[in-house]
Amino acid sequence: MAYSAVVTFELPEEVERQFRERLNVKFLPSGLPLSPSDLDAAVSGCDAIVVTPPTQVDAEILSRLPASVKAIATYSVGLDHIDLEAAQKHGIAVLNTPDVLTDAVAETAILLLLGAARRATESISLIRSRTWTGWKPKQLVGLGLSDKKLGILGMGRIGRGIAHRAKAFGMEIHYHNTRRLTPDQEEGAQYYADPNAMLSVIDALVLACPLTPSTRGFLDERRLSLMKQTALIVNIARGAIIEDEALINALRDGRIFAAGLDVFANEPRLDPGYYDLPNVFMLPHIGSSTVEARMMMGMSLIEGLERLASGVNPPNRVT
Ligand code: NAP
Repeated sequence: MAYSAVVTFELPEEVERQFRERLNVKFLPSGLPLSPSDLDAAVSGCDAIVVTPPTQVDAEILSRLPASVKAIATYSVGLDHIDLEAAQKHGIAVLNTPDVLTDAVAETAILLLLGAARRATESISLIRSRTWTGWKPKQLVGLGLSDKKLGILGMGRIGRGIAHRAKAFGMEIHYHNTRRLTPDQEEGAQYYADPNAMLSVIDALVLACPLTPSTRGFLDERRLSLMKQTALIVNIARGAIIEDEALINALRDGRIFAAGLDVFANEPRLDPGYYDLPNVFMLPHIGSSTVEARMMMGMSLIEGLERLASGVNPPNRVT
């Protein structure tokens, strides 16, 4: 029998159609209700709850879910909003959407890298202000990427997707993971067991790791001070991996050339210090927001829930 699922957000139309066709689905676009009585009424009798990263699925919520709920499916690959230990303790399966959004997010990282290097924020402001006076050799001179060293923190699915694309721009790839990749996966990239040793060597840093206790606040004042003054910083991972005050000060003082950011701590109320910096190129967390990725993310969850319903472990079940 089809799984019954409560979807706690609005889906693109075609994705919603697929959910309605293939699952027994109820939509609660206002988000997961948090009061005990609302939560019970909303999810009572359902097999699965479908969430997005802004919804915190913490130990408290998991402990209050009715026994019928056997799965939490998140429309994301990131899992930092879900207490995985508590889910395991309650026997609740967690599904996410790996692989299907890798290309979209890797493309966004390249957009941010180019936007930061080529001073996109200032360029867009100048032309839209209608005050541009014409081509000048000294106007908005940015940095090139060719022959530069790109450091990737988190050389997983998305990190490797970024590496492939950056190589096409003539960049040399350096990376840190907690575990070194196999030579096949490395494809010539240089590994650093110590991320700090990488920071002083590279010309650009892309954050592509998950937000965990060990990556929270990773890019702080001390690490920023190890980087070149001409360095670029790109974050497509999670905002809280950066200490905002430290990055804002470094950008304002010219100790870092520019940043490209898709994600922020406390979204959507990002640190206001970012808004007026000319050398930050910002996007509102649109990393995976393509027609193709959104569709495949939906299909990945639908297929995962269908497999769970038929007693088969889906490949996108988080272990
Ligand atoms: P993934 O395949 O699991 O890759 C994550 C990589 O990070 C792994 O290679 C992992 O390797 C490494 N890592 C883990 N802890 C680390 C640490 N302390 N220091 C350095 N590297 C570490 O995940 P993915 O699919 O590439 O996604 C990565 C993240 O991107 C997600 O968790 C999510 O937060 C973010 N994301 C953002 C968007 C967006 O819209 N902007 C969209 C999708 C995903 P080791 O375990 O060997 O260290």
